[in-house]
Amino acid sequence: MNNPLLEKFNTPFDSAPFSKFKNEDYKPAFEEAIKIAKNEIDTIVNNPESPTFENTIEAMELSGELLGRISSIFFNLNSAETNDDIQKIAQEVSPLLSDFGNDVRLNQQLFERIKVVYNQKDSLNLTEEQAYLLEKKYKGFSRNGANLNDEDKNKLREIDKQLSLLSLQFGQNVLAETNNFELVITDEKDLDGLPHYAKEQAKADAEQKNIDGWLITLQAPSFIPFMQYAKNRTLREKLFRANGTKAFQENEFNNEENVKQIVKLRHERAKILGYTTHANYVLEERMAKSPKTVIDFLNDLLIKAKPFAEKEIEELSAFAKELDGIDKLQRWDHGYYAELLKQKKFSFSDEELKPYFQLENVTQGAFDVATKLYGITFKEINNIDKYNEDVTTYEVIDKDGNFLSLLYADFFPRAGKRPGAWMTSFREASNVNGNNKRPHISIVCNFTKPTQDTPSLLTFQEVTTLFHEFGHALHGMLPNTTYESLAGTNVYWDFVELPSQFYENFCYEPEALKLFAKHYKTNEIIPQDLIEKVKASSTFMEGYQTVRQLSFGLLDMAYHANDLKTIDNLQKFEKETFKQTELYPEIENNMMSTSFSHIFQGGYSSGYYSYKWAEVLDADAFALFKETGIFNPVTAQKFYKLLSSGGTVEPMKLYEEFRGQKPNADALLKRAGLSV
Ligand SMILES: [Zn+2]
Repeated sequence: MNNPLLEKFNTPFDSAPFSKFKNEDYKPAFEEAIKIAKNEIDTIVNNPESPTFENTIEAMELSGELLGRISSIFFNLNSAETNDDIQKIAQEVSPLLSDFGNDVRLNQQLFERIKVVYNQKDSLNLTEEQAYLLEKKYKGFSRNGANLNDEDKNKLREIDKQLSLLSLQFGQNVLAETNNFELVITDEKDLDGLPHYAKEQAKADAEQKNIDGWLITLQAPSFIPFMQYAKNRTLREKLFRANGTKAFQENEFNNEENVKQIVKLRHERAKILGYTTHANYVLEERMAKSPKTVIDFLNDLLIKAKPFAEKEIEELSAFAKELDGIDKLQRWDHGYYAELLKQKKFSFSDEELKPYFQLENVTQGAFDVATKLYGITFKEINNIDKYNEDVTTYEVIDKDGNFLSLLYADFFPRAGKRPGAWMTSFREASNVNGNNKRPHISIVCNFTKPTQDTPSLLTFQEVTTLFHEFGHALHGMLPNTTYESLAGTNVYWDFVELPSQFYENFCYEPEALKLFAKHYKTNEIIPQDLIEKVKASSTFMEGYQTVRQLSFGLLDMAYHANDLKTIDNLQKFEKETFKQTELYPEIENNMMSTSFSHIFQGGYSSGYYSYKWAEVLDADAFALFKETGIFNPVTAQKFYKLLSSGGTVEPMKLYEEFRGQKPNADALLKRAGLSV
């Protein structure tokens, strides 16, 4: 049987020959590749020679190559070019992949070999990258309990099972409570203030449920515009209160006990593994490293941001009082009056900006900035396969003329592509034993398509999105490292958004904008006062937003960085924690924790601070460029080093090498207008 997914590609750059793949090829290819990967692991385990870095750690790193190649292709297509068949295959192969992953993770014989190497690590003369790889492979097992005795292993397994059920239950309850609430509107006057699209949505939601009139729900696309635009204060309050009692009512969907159990079990789990708290366990593999660093970080920002937030609320209260005679501004008033005040202060629209941002120019601008910084160049090519005609392909060359990477750019929405924007790879960089494999990187977006007479014109937000994803792409394209699992974007969570957010900064700089922000008809460069307006409006209510984000981060840490044997009263606990960040009058029977899915269902526990952390990093990094000139070659070279090192060095060390000092929040506070 010949299956192109299993064969050598024999294509330019070894690029994926998409046109050869048929849907029926995937499942057998996965099965075969899993078999091969299993054999590779068995070979390592059964090696009669005593364990060495090469025959164990490096061999593990190199195993499963074919499986990795097939997985990348398949799951990238499932995101960008899917259909019913692909989705069905995804459901069939996902359990096979997770079974294989578990088999490796729980393979005690394999761990024993890793441990032998790990225990000799100081005498092995490893390079810094090799030492890092060894540490990572070892931790991959030890953090899952491989060092425990059988009794503790069983306890851990039992806890993990319970935790996954509890998270599932938590999510299902939030979903049920979200879906159970309906605000039916029969008098169109109650929709006053809502933009046309939001009314249409409310109408469509109602029709779908055979309801006469309009339907407002707690789903974000319905909830957010209503809170932001609806004039009717009573209905805003009703909707807000409903949202604040999600999974916190006396019914079967109440999440209070689930939260308590999750917090308790996470703590127990951490203790069994030898950590003081769950946060200590999580943060070991983050740039921040310890709960104290995170808590100090959040509190420090809070002290600085809160006075600004208070002043913003004062201004907003006065505005609401003057406009509508509101005596006591409430949380359900915030979004509505903030929107009105914003419109009053900064009157400009997307439509004014869009003519300056033709997609082709913006893409070329992202490339040109990289050329100016790093000397790398981009050449469009047509000699490799694409998975869709809309995709553009580029060959990326470094300053010495060496091939660096392939780049796929896939910009327009279509059926079969999920919404949003992301960067991914069809192949990651590695260079083991002279086998230099350069990466194949892809950025996928959903921008407005060109029409017969108008090219694709981007909103400013789309411009920053393109730069953001391209920043990730650079991280993926530039590696100068050995091992795939440490290359490019394979870095700690609280570090991975630095290259992407950093790159967004160029969208506000006249020196960069003049490269690409040209009117598509007149070629006129975007007027700087328009950019100043964009900047000013982007920091509107920044104090309030910052305090809110910090409050979530602090709540996350309150649950996970403490030895909480029991929480008697969840509401009391939450209110206590929120006290220092509260900017509005207290609301009875209002709860965030019971629907805080980020930390109780998703993977963000002890990680909510990462959003602000990454902002501090990108602002602090860009500040050095501002100081030295945004295209300063010496500064750029230092940042290139940071990007090309991927995850082979502790991120704090890498950052300090670039910056000459630890990151500090001053640049962010200044950019956000939160410093005096
Ligand atoms: Zn990102």
